[in-house]
Amino acid sequence: MAEVVLNGVGKVYPDGTRAVTDLNLTIADGEFLVLVGPSGCGKTTALRMVAGLEDISEGEVRIGDRVVNHVPSRDRDLAMVFQSYALYPHLSVRDNIGFGLSLRKMAKDEIHRRVEEAARVLGLTDHLDRKPRNLSGGQRQRVAMGRAIVREPQAFLMDEPLSNLDAKMRVQTRAEIARLQRDLGVTTIYVTHDQTEAMTLGDRVAVMKKGQLQQVAPPQELYDRPANLFVAGFIGSPAMNLVQGTFAGDADDPRVEIGGQSLALPDKVLSERPALGDYFGRNVVVGIRPEDMEDAALVDAPEGTTLTSTAELVEAMGSDVLVHFAVEAAQVVTEDTKELARDAGTDVLGALEAPRTVLVGRFSPRTRVRVGDPVTTRVDTGRLHFFDIDTGAAIW
Ligand code: ATP
Repeated sequence: MAEVVLNGVGKVYPDGTRAVTDLNLTIADGEFLVLVGPSGCGKTTALRMVAGLEDISEGEVRIGDRVVNHVPSRDRDLAMVFQSYALYPHLSVRDNIGFGLSLRKMAKDEIHRRVEEAARVLGLTDHLDRKPRNLSGGQRQRVAMGRAIVREPQAFLMDEPLSNLDAKMRVQTRAEIARLQRDLGVTTIYVTHDQTEAMTLGDRVAVMKKGQLQQVAPPQELYDRPANLFVAGFIGSPAMNLVQGTFAGDADDPRVEIGGQSLALPDKVLSERPALGDYFGRNVVVGIRPEDMEDAALVDAPEGTTLTSTAELVEAMGSDVLVHFAVEAAQVVTEDTKELARDAGTDVLGALEAPRTVLVGRFSPRTRVRVGDPVTTRVDTGRLHFFDIDTGAAIW
């Protein structure tokens, strides 16, 4: 097992496409690091550079104490698991798992020992003599994992290994991967576009956008302290509400105004986020997580902690109810949204610029709010997020 280090790593494809820019990451020995981001952000390219499947244009990749930029893939001592797990259909599970070891001419009894052990940890012992076609999708994925485990590699590299499974199998196999990685303690880099997978699996999660690392942190920290608007919008479901507001009041009575409504902030907001002190009287982006809002009729809601509006959409989810309501404040339109809107036509752009933002609150199922009803929402004002309106960086 080993530490994996990416030092100023960049990738420009032969056709000139830049896929990764100045990527710096240290994955500790035994750590589970998840690379996450939207399609095309460069996460697969980054993984393939570590794997040796793609040339490294800039910087260096180190595995253990070896710089591997020019080491061929097969000599990097890594095991890879991809979304298509490509098992040999004519071989038994036992032979599929042991295949790589046989190729390396390992002694038969050592292969036997490793395959039995991998089958045991993966719960495949009873299936060792079956052919892949007689296994479920989840079991096949476990065989692919088995093939990686028996190699006893320095690190696992996984690229969307769950994406071919149905939703239920995905959740189950996700839990198995987490348990397995913990038991084996192997350094793992795992690529996904799914933020739930990233949050549940990673010791730390690295969020990428357009080839650039946005933030790397343990899951809870990403959620509690997103570094910028992109991470704020990407982590969490439903996404964090983002709306323009004005940071107002003074040090003794900090407030934020959102579309003519005023929320009182707890005093600690300034000690927690000293940089906010420079923003009095200025426009900021206010981030409110849906789960930090509740139907004021159900809870204690002191003055200055509520927003009033009309319910425009009510979605019962069983465990909670999503209530959509508008405030008369400008939306936060990111460059990405603008790009999409430009493609869709000027009407959409105009609508985006109208001073009206729909917020989503995640209410208790006890709420009686229906579409068209007036709704008073209690906001947990101690949990608001603030971002610089020009740079999108979190204000701390
Ligand atoms: P996805 O989740 O869709 O696989 P990703 O985040 O893994 O996306 P990459 O596959 O790493 O992203 O691609 C990053 C960028 O590099 C994209 O713009 C992609 O079009 C481009 N790209 C990938 N492979 C090549 C290639 N062989 N030649 C040129 N450009 C490429």
